[in-house]
Amino acid sequence: MKTRAVLLQNHGKLVITERELTIGDSEVLVKTEYASICGTDKNIFLGTVSQEHFSMEMHGKGNPLYSNREVPKMPFWIGHEGGGTVVEVGSKVSEFKKGDKVMSFGWSGTYADYFVSPVQNLELVPEGLDMKIASLGEPTGCAMFSALNSGVNLGDTVVIIGTGFAGLVMTQAVKKKGAYKVIAVDMSDEKLKIASNIGADVIINASSENVINRILEETNMKGADVVIEAAGTENSMNTATSVLKHNGIFVLYSYITKPITLNIGRWHDDSFEIRTTCLVHHTENERHVWVPWVLRPLVLGQIDLLPLITHEFKLENVEKAFETVCNNEDAVKVMLIP
Ligand SMILES: [Zn+2]
Repeated sequence: MKTRAVLLQNHGKLVITERELTIGDSEVLVKTEYASICGTDKNIFLGTVSQEHFSMEMHGKGNPLYSNREVPKMPFWIGHEGGGTVVEVGSKVSEFKKGDKVMSFGWSGTYADYFVSPVQNLELVPEGLDMKIASLGEPTGCAMFSALNSGVNLGDTVVIIGTGFAGLVMTQAVKKKGAYKVIAVDMSDEKLKIASNIGADVIINASSENVINRILEETNMKGADVVIEAAGTENSMNTATSVLKHNGIFVLYSYITKPITLNIGRWHDDSFEIRTTCLVHHTENERHVWVPWVLRPLVLGQIDLLPLITHEFKLENVEKAFETVCNNEDAVKVMLIP
């Protein structure tokens, strides 16, 4: 069948065009209800994820321990976040049936009226979850997985660096987990305003305040019990290192796409517990187990995503949507509606 879909012809150049879809034996055809744009889409759009990162000459090339990640080749059917209804399944598919509501967890070209996905890149929408929220299942699942595995406990002071979509999901989640004080750090006053509306006790704008001094003050010079790094820059990583207490938990959420210089003496000297918390880089079998668990608080209404959806565009305005993601630093989650 044919569908309308967004093709990234080259970095910075998107077109809406016709795409021929065929459904393989282990694939599923989905009618898109909502899709959304995340930082990785932006990086691919701009061309800021380099092959150099994926196969760093000295360490990664030919090293079997490195995850097999490749830079998408142009032209590329862009879009990995989204959800919709199953309209047809391949002959060997037993996991899904026509009419099922599903969420995308892989690169299937979700910026389209219809997309085809291999079975292993889909998850069933948990019962009771609204489709708009469920379409954000992948980014939300990742952020919730991180929050639930952050080790945050009743009474903790938690610093969240970066209040993009993930940071804001985690702000809510760690507060609900019993954090005494949640300190949110960002450069956008608008994002910080959202953070303070949904659970942050203290907000710090890194462009106008000394983040380290302020956090030391807020923690009586003891440092935070847990720091969640969700900004992904050299500066944010080093700031996180400087505000964590002795023996604190350092939660690595960001996907850092180029080599950076870190001052990690403290990681050893102050015996940090380092946790990497990436849901999508578990195996698919594990992901099937985690997803219902990490989305349960959303089904139960404990986490509200609606304040995080700052922009919605019709699919035909995809260029405007990307312009917003790239240039409007107050944009949190930008959605595309076919
Ligand atoms: Zn994403």
